[in-house]
Amino acid sequence: MNKNIERFIRYAKIDTQADENTGTTPSTEKQKNLSKLLVKELKELGLDDAYMDEYGIVYAHLDGEGDVIGLNSHVDTALEVTDENVNPQLLNNWDGKDIKLNDQYSISLKQFPKMEQFVGKDLVVTDGNTLLGADDKAGIAIIMGVLDYLKNNPDFKHHPLAVAFTVDEEIGEGPKHFSLEKMGADYAFTIDGGDITDIDIENFNAQQLKVRIEGVAVHPGEGINTLINALQLQAEFITALPEKETPFYANEGYWHLTSCNGTSEKSEFVAILRNFSREKLELLDTRIYQIRDELLKKYPKAKIEIDISEQYENMKKYVDKDPRPVEKAAAALRKFGIEPVFGRIKGGTDGATFSKMGLVTPNLGTGSGNHHGRFEYLCVQDFEKMIEIVLEIIKR
Ligand SMILES: [Zn+2]
Repeated sequence: MNKNIERFIRYAKIDTQADENTGTTPSTEKQKNLSKLLVKELKELGLDDAYMDEYGIVYAHLDGEGDVIGLNSHVDTALEVTDENVNPQLLNNWDGKDIKLNDQYSISLKQFPKMEQFVGKDLVVTDGNTLLGADDKAGIAIIMGVLDYLKNNPDFKHHPLAVAFTVDEEIGEGPKHFSLEKMGADYAFTIDGGDITDIDIENFNAQQLKVRIEGVAVHPGEGINTLINALQLQAEFITALPEKETPFYANEGYWHLTSCNGTSEKSEFVAILRNFSREKLELLDTRIYQIRDELLKKYPKAKIEIDISEQYENMKKYVDKDPRPVEKAAAALRKFGIEPVFGRIKGGTDGATFSKMGLVTPNLGTGSGNHHGRFEYLCVQDFEKMIEIVLEIIKR
């Protein structure tokens, strides 16, 4: 096994799962176990100023010439499947047949036809009991592989580098305590994607909607012209939302209900609102306020409170303003005969918020896929190629 894959497996075995319920940063103290190891390894690779701040975020810098290029990956892993006792399996020269992870789970081309591209290549997969954590430890291992190459090839001329390993990306809090000043980059890349052909330059605009309804509670026997049932109003509200704009039908954007609860007196529902287009998202907001007004006209004694909070923004308009990182990445991919695919993430990325904060940060692939679950994989050849691609990006 080569040392880059060994390095990835070493990181994958450290449990760094985030937790959305603790309210602390990092959300789980154990994320610092990987951060501390990375500080030690960064120093061994010659990045003497490497350190971990109080939030578990690692920063390090390497001198060079030209614009300072930032490289970022996140230490935490997703919440859907456990990250405890990750036991990666290396499969050489995959023949395309079902990969038996354990007695219960297999990876098949029938279920994951996109994996056809990896037939004949080497894969790292799970033992079926955990996720793999290639999201985003493959990204970390790519950055460390680049730095290792630079240490062993002192004649390789490159841009100055600013490295940051962040925490809690999976709960949307990566940028919360991230410091542009400590990072000190002119532009950056998150290395946190799937296929290495992809340069993600767009993501959803995202809001969260909360609707709190207060009805009028009396005994239903005395309810005529008086009783207003908050649960029923909730159902009316939800039914009035555009059905064709749910994930079942809509691709470009949607509203998606995440929780409903309450009693006949008070109820609340929460939905996420997503759209690539800001205008379309705002049209949906307008429709939501209209529905409220219509319901209040029908039931003047009810109270309906609407709370729409911003979550993240499409990075496209920021990326368009500073084309340097996308141009550099596209040129590097083409150098390896890869035609870049300009991707749109149906979700958010830390880079979207970094871009909004002023550090334009498109996202690059890692050669991994089926993230957030036990079918996650890493393609060894693509992962290795990505180290070469990043070297090409930072080359002078
Ligand atoms: Zn990720």
